[in-house]
Amino acid sequence: MIIVLDGPAGTGKSTVSREIASRLGLSFLDTGAMYRAMTYWLLQNGVDVNDPDAVALASSKPVILSGTDAGGPTITVDGVDVSGPIRGTEVTGAVSAVSAVPEVRTRLVELQRGSAEAAPRGIVAEGRDMGTVVFPAADLKVFLTASASIRAVRRAAQLGVTDPAGTAAILADIERRDAFDSGRATSPLAKAEDAVEVDTSTMTPDEVIAHILGLVRE
Ligand code: C5P
Repeated sequence: MIIVLDGPAGTGKSTVSREIASRLGLSFLDTGAMYRAMTYWLLQNGVDVNDPDAVALASSKPVILSGTDAGGPTITVDGVDVSGPIRGTEVTGAVSAVSAVPEVRTRLVELQRGSAEAAPRGIVAEGRDMGTVVFPAADLKVFLTASASIRAVRRAAQLGVTDPAGTAAILADIERRDAFDSGRATSPLAKAEDAVEVDTSTMTPDEVIAHILGLVRE
């Protein structure tokens, strides 16, 4: 069983996907964390993330491992746990440029498909191109949306940001990443034709989870 959730940043994909995987006894894959881990390694190793040729050349080097236990997903690069640093502003600012490089995508898509093959009962995978590129034959495809301002408020709450200037900066970053992720030539963020779109703007995470579990049962 393969369930995929795609959509832009701040739609609640990670929380919802993880909970659905837990409830159904499936593995869980946060593919954004893999692009973030690649970006973190490139930054740490002095690679210019705005030079696609340099990124392409270096992208085969890091050993990226995603633990797919929905109860406690992990991500390591060259054996080091990077779950904390990959959420920082430096990585968040650079990850879209790295994700646009075809060699990066080819490598990570291969790892993503390998994780699904190794999952004993199936997997819930979340990202931007799960339904369109990585798992085109998934059993259920969901595309989550929400207005950019609502997504910014949610992200601010997650990060503990309370001041309006901080929230405005998060909104600007979300809009920049939306534009970059949707406009890139390779695997742009897009809803698969056969995906069910769920607008989460006025829904709680529990409501979104219940709705998707209903779709699974159908
Ligand atoms: O989901 P998250 O916000 O952690 O993703 C970080 C970035 O990784 C996205 O902005 C996007 O550029 C990239 N990404 C991608 N394809 C995926 C998952 C994430 O290009 N499947």
